[in-house]
Amino acid sequence: MAQIHPQRFVADVVVTCDAVNTVYAPGIVDVEDGKIQWVGPKGDAPEANSVFEENDVGGLLMPGLVNTHCHTPMTLVRGVGDGLPLQKWLTEAMWPREGLMTSEDVWWGMTLGSAEMLERGVTTSCEMYLFEEAIIDAVQQTGARLVMTPVVISESGRSLRKYIKDLTELYEDHHNPTGRTTIGVAAHSAYNLGINPVAELAGLARSLDTIFHLHLAETQQESADLERQFGQSITQILYNHGVLDGQVLAAHSVWVDQADIDLMAETGVAVAHCPVSNMKLGSGIAPLLDLRAAGVTVGYGTDGPASNDSLDLWEEVKIAPLLARVRALDSTAVTAAETLAMATREGASALGLHNTGSLIAGNVADIIRIDLNQSTFVPVTSPDELIAHLAWSGSNRLVTDVWVAGRQVVVDGGVQTVDTERAQAQVQERAFRLAG
Ligand SMILES: [Zn+2]
Repeated sequence: MAQIHPQRFVADVVVTCDAVNTVYAPGIVDVEDGKIQWVGPKGDAPEANSVFEENDVGGLLMPGLVNTHCHTPMTLVRGVGDGLPLQKWLTEAMWPREGLMTSEDVWWGMTLGSAEMLERGVTTSCEMYLFEEAIIDAVQQTGARLVMTPVVISESGRSLRKYIKDLTELYEDHHNPTGRTTIGVAAHSAYNLGINPVAELAGLARSLDTIFHLHLAETQQESADLERQFGQSITQILYNHGVLDGQVLAAHSVWVDQADIDLMAETGVAVAHCPVSNMKLGSGIAPLLDLRAAGVTVGYGTDGPASNDSLDLWEEVKIAPLLARVRALDSTAVTAAETLAMATREGASALGLHNTGSLIAGNVADIIRIDLNQSTFVPVTSPDELIAHLAWSGSNRLVTDVWVAGRQVVVDGGVQTVDTERAQAQVQERAFRLAG
């Protein structure tokens, strides 16, 4: 990669999404070697060293969004089986097609989806899928940030022994917390694999000191057999088997009661909240307020593009608080600043990434620019209103430019690292083959 000059970004507004939601208007972000060196109000900026390139970007800068739960290569099956009941959708529409997918299919599906996310201001995604090498390679090309958690699923035919060997090698080759890729461990779910394999995989994640990603309590019925057998909720069963120790990322967590939530809080489980997917698949409403009140870290996920069907995290930014408010009949539940935090720094923290998700000195420069010359951002009489505009009337259409680790990957709304037309044609053609 070409050497990037140190840059000083001058913006009308900098929304840092730091712990106290600081806003600077106008603000400056200094970036060197892919990292933020300084951020603050324009008037207080240190003397710019002559090697800094001044970049007067105007508009609003904020951290890139973080998608904490995704199966992005499912761009290849977007829209398939729409309206089928969940079990039929999986067994008749998804799995037969996924069974035909090759590594090259997944590379193209990931490339297209990664470009879609970057253009919408999503700079990081946590992927749970097969063909991990193809996914890592695709995202190296697109320039996004990736947390790769290759999935163990009973239908894959890969034995647990083989997986553990492969995953350990993958971790050694690609886990790079100072670069753009980290590796975690994933089990599809306890209902798919059984408790003991899940416990073993959770142990693997702990031994590698990385995240353990699984689907937990997405639908009411999925774990009914296990729950009958053990006489406990699925969350309690996993807790009793030590699965929740370590850095656990539980996707969905819709069907968890207060006792479950207390166990999740006690063990530091983070939740990938996927309200749009949960609504589309009729899974239920996750208890977002109870999770947050207990101190559980919550980030947002789109889930796969076949169950959403977009990769546009701005929808979750708005819909998550709306759902929480209508469930609680409380218009004060989940503030604008809180929903932005879940889409940025709290999502990053849920993924074990502690150097992205907010614009603070020392973090990597994962930055997006929002166009403020839009009717939806008028009027602004205080910085709080800007935060409210981002949360309630923000949208992917407002994202003009995107930098990941200081490298610009989206310019004027167009991704620079992917030939999007070619990727669309490839996905289109491959989808026909997968349809049989
Ligand atoms: Zn999922």
